Order: sequence, then C-alpha cells, then structure tokens
Amino acid sequence: MQVLDAESNQNDSKSVLVVFTGPSGAGKSSIIQKLKENYPNRIGFSVSHTTRSPRPGEQNGVEYYFVPEEKFKDMIENNEFIEYANVHGRYYGTSFQAVETVLNRGQLCVLDVDVQGCRSIRQRSIKAIIIFISPPSLTELESRLRSRKTESEADVRKRIDDAEDEMKTCGEPNLYDLVVVNDFLDRAYNEARTFIAEYLNDKDQKFQLSL
Ligand code: 5GP
Repeated sequence: MQVLDAESNQNDSKSVLVVFTGPSGAGKSSIIQKLKENYPNRIGFSVSHTTRSPRPGEQNGVEYYFVPEEKFKDMIENNEFIEYANVHGRYYGTSFQAVETVLNRGQLCVLDVDVQGCRSIRQRSIKAIIIFISPPSLTELESRLRSRKTESEADVRKRIDDAEDEMKTCGEPNLYDLVVVNDFLDRAYNEARTFIAEYLNDKDQKFQLSL
C-alpha cells in the first residue's frame, strides 16, 4: 500500500495525499472540481463510501459510493478504510482501494474528508497536505447551505452546529498545513493551487502542476 509505506514515500511526493477539509458548504467540492477541470490528467479524486442518500444528480461511483450501513460496517470490520467517521449522523470513509486506484493511474490523489478524518490521517502518519477551507463567516455559510437547497432544514441546522466546532480546529497545531478563507472562489482556488504546486515543485521537480 503506497500510501502507508513510509519507506517508499520518503522521496516520492506523487504519493502524497492532498486533503481538503472544512465545514459543509465552505466550498471544498467547488475547489476540487476546478482542480479536476484544470488538471484532468494529473488530479484524481478519491471516491469515498457513504451511507447518506444521493442528492439529485449525484451518481454512484462518481461523487461517492452510496452503500447501506450494513455494507459500510462490514468494510470497517475488514479494515478496508484508511479512515472513516460519522459525520452529521452518517458514515463516510476513504477506502484503501479508492486511493490506490488514483495513485495507480499516476495521478495526484485528492480527498475531501471531515475534521475527524484529518485527525486519523495525522495519527497514522500518512503523508498528506491538509488544507482547511473556511467560509468567511458562519452567517455566510448558513446562507450558502440554504441557497443550495440540497438538505432538509434539520440537516442544515446540524451542519451549521457542526461547523462551529469544525471552525475551532483551525488553530490546532500540526493538524492543517494551510487554512484558506473562501471569500471568492477563484481567489481561494488559486491560493490552494499555488500551495500544492509549491509543495510538489519543491519536493519533486518531475511532478509540477505547471502553473
Ligand atoms: P456531504 O454529505 O456534504 O457530501 O459531506 C459531508 C461531510 O462528509 C463533508 O464535510 C465531507 O468532507 C465529509 N466526507 C466526505 N467523504 C468523507 C470521507 O471519506 N471521510 C470522512 N472522514 N469524511 C468525509
């Protein structure tokens, strides 16, 4: 497993995981989407498993693998996850398989995980750049969550409550490599992209994001 093999990772920044985290509605998916659009051959997204229902337009195997709780628990039992967590009352997890699929294509592996997932990644000493995407304010976050109309009122409330706790982790030492305030999508995207590119260009001249 490349991602957990410290030896083989030492001088190989291609197997570094690029993790986006932050409150629901902060704009992680939009930033990841832009990276995928701008670097379709270089960036691969690790498709997580979840027990939540698909939103309109979401496809199994694209945004997530949508699985019943029973199946998810079997996967936990079988140690199939690099990390998993219960987020807003549902399970979400990154399988070894999902990450390997991307790395085996020779792509930079990008993940979207919650704060608990980031802690697990740090605890396992997995080589990862972790970028926290913050909304400009909780009021702005609430209005973004409401305007996208993808969650029920109860779900929106839960996500806003959870966001307050997530925001408190911003200043925690050794958890995040970068905190980006998503005030304007293009600006936030550029800040994240530049940070990733600088990291990769420093570590491995052969794998440039060529900005
Ligand atoms: P959503 O339901 O809005 O797609 O995602 C809800 C939350 O679950 C987001 O904060 C997202 O970062 C998190 N999430 C998505 N996939 C994973 C995963 O594989 N592991 C963990 N720990 N969190 C995830």
